[in-house]
Amino acid sequence: MKKIMLALIAIPIFLGAMYSFLPPINVEKFVDPTAATDDSANTIAAPYSLRDLLVADMHADTLLWNRSIAEPSELGHADLHRLVDVNVGLQVFMSVVEAPNDVDSDSIKQEGDQIRAVALLDKWPYQTLGSYKQRALYHASKLFKAAESSNGKLRVLLSKEDLATGMQNWQVKEGPLLSILGMEGAHATEFNVENVEALFDAGFRSMGLAHYSDTEFAGSSSGIEKHGLTNKGKALIKKMTAIGMIVDVAHLSNQGIEDVLDMTEKPVYSSHTGVYATCSKARNLPDSMIKKIAQREGVIGIGFFEGAICGNALEDIVRAIKHVRDLVGSEYVGLGSGWDVASLAITPTELPDLAQALLDQGFSEKEVRDVMGRNITRFFLENLPSKEYKSI
Ligand SMILES: [Zn+2]
Repeated sequence: MKKIMLALIAIPIFLGAMYSFLPPINVEKFVDPTAATDDSANTIAAPYSLRDLLVADMHADTLLWNRSIAEPSELGHADLHRLVDVNVGLQVFMSVVEAPNDVDSDSIKQEGDQIRAVALLDKWPYQTLGSYKQRALYHASKLFKAAESSNGKLRVLLSKEDLATGMQNWQVKEGPLLSILGMEGAHATEFNVENVEALFDAGFRSMGLAHYSDTEFAGSSSGIEKHGLTNKGKALIKKMTAIGMIVDVAHLSNQGIEDVLDMTEKPVYSSHTGVYATCSKARNLPDSMIKKIAQREGVIGIGFFEGAICGNALEDIVRAIKHVRDLVGSEYVGLGSGWDVASLAITPTELPDLAQALLDQGFSEKEVRDVMGRNITRFFLENLPSKEYKSI
């Protein structure tokens, strides 16, 4: 018995010691999402009239991986250099702290914790293994560290003034890359509404309400029940609105979006989604929701991934963008790529091709400028908190 007890104590200590000597696995190498794209189609020949365009995108998952955004990398899609090179001037970097085993179906149970596996294999700080909030704080610290090491080339925006100044300083192919920290779902609050303040203080300026499955705050568009906001979810919205945290309705159930719009006068955005009319999956927005978000002066980010556009080609992105433009106007649609987490229809180097494809589809130059960047910069100039703002 004693021997068994000793073994029970010694084996975990031994495994722990072994683990501490192992280098991080670098999980991104094994999920490299660039593999499915056709690099031969790359071009940086932007349409002449759009070469001065500040491109904006509302969804990159780069913070998940074991690299600094400030360092050039050949993995994934995005880093400071690759984005600046194609005139991406504003990028929302998302903190993904939770993902269940099933992320594809239209009816997803809360089962499994894929992010914990990444945290373990890539040796994130040990506190992140059991805490969604610690994972978010770790992601925030990674972005701020990258900004510090970038000689001013990467900036993390905390206020509308930061964005206005950054845009004034921005130059074609020089940057700086202006970034905003956002959260996928509200798991990082660990379902305690008061934690929103700590996340705001850590630099987060946008938060979703749900991810792939229903939570105690709200139903997910791909959850089992897809219910609206719970009372706790309503308290969360009140808190977010009071402290200046922008509401991201990506992944939120349609009833949840309606509940949010009923509760607040403020615009909301969907950082990365598809359009149900062009890709009939539960996670994508039906026309009724697109109209409501547009009426509220929000913006809808079209994802470049299969789940949003039901395809793997530039034309599939264009079809979704065109649908929103035809339904509500070009002022309410933008880019919500999903860099660095899945195979995408295009990589950053093909963004000029997207601008050209929109022109080819009959979009005016003004409309292309709206879609490629201006709608998103307008949304954040209007909705980021102002500098004097103090959390209450
Ligand atoms: Zn997502």
